[in-house]
Amino acid sequence: MEEHNETKIALVTGGSRGIGRECVIELSAAGYQCAFSYSSDVDGANETIKLASEASDAGLSPLAIKSDVSSPESVDELFSEIENKLGIVSILVNNAGITRDTLLMRMKDEQFNDVIQTNLTGAFYTMRRASRNMMKNRWGRIINISSVNAYVGPVGQANYAAAKAGIIGMTKSVAREFASRNITANAIAPGVIETAMVGETPEEWRETMLSTIPLARFGQPNEIAHLVVFLASQNASYITGTVIPIDGGVGMGN
Ligand code: NDP
Repeated sequence: MEEHNETKIALVTGGSRGIGRECVIELSAAGYQCAFSYSSDVDGANETIKLASEASDAGLSPLAIKSDVSSPESVDELFSEIENKLGIVSILVNNAGITRDTLLMRMKDEQFNDVIQTNLTGAFYTMRRASRNMMKNRWGRIINISSVNAYVGPVGQANYAAAKAGIIGMTKSVAREFASRNITANAIAPGVIETAMVGETPEEWRETMLSTIPLARFGQPNEIAHLVVFLASQNASYITGTVIPIDGGVGMGN
């Protein structure tokens, strides 16, 4: 099947920094028209627009929309605005995520619920909304950012590990439900990637983590984005329901 990247619209949630920003840049460089959401960082969103516009040979500028992925109303408005201004979303990258780390005994309801609501339920809201038009179009790509921590279950991350493990199960169900309509759904499980989320961690933790990584370095956001671009492409058309780790060899494929 021939590919028409220029006609496809990609939405990345949480594109104002980190992995999401690199996804917007690399998808723009690959010829897609991007839209991205962000929570509050207007300066970060503007920087993503600038970098992605520079990366786009076609001179396409991404559409940035302030939107809360944890709210179904906000997600509906996000899609409606994209549909009005650009068209139908064919590629959905569920990247927005937060951490609220603490030991289970001390974890407040809010800390648990916020992480589930943003990292897991948010992806449910966007997939449900995106699927209507993907089904009609009989083409779609859903790429969900999970984490190796779904498997590892780190101390202090019961909420985050639960959400990221939930993403994996949800991706597989969705992959089965949508397969007959030529819509693929896959998850990526990054290891430690150098973003603000990791920058906030203590130096001691970073050194301990580094000693467990066969490639002896943290990953870079664009190393996730390159896989996102591949999974979005026609070349990945027979890949669905998978979880692909990018972790410097920590899990050796698991
Ligand atoms: P960052 O903290 O750097 O960026 C998070 C992004 O999500 C920001 O754009 C932020 O917007 C946005 N966001 C947060 N809450 C919401 C919300 N309610 N609605 C919409 N957008 C929101 O994260 P990373 O780039 O480090 O991580 C990206 C994804 O990758 C996450 O899902 C994370 O769990 C996952 N991951 C990260 C790893 C890492 O080592 N960094 C490892 C494994 C997985 P704003 O800037 O406006 O706040």
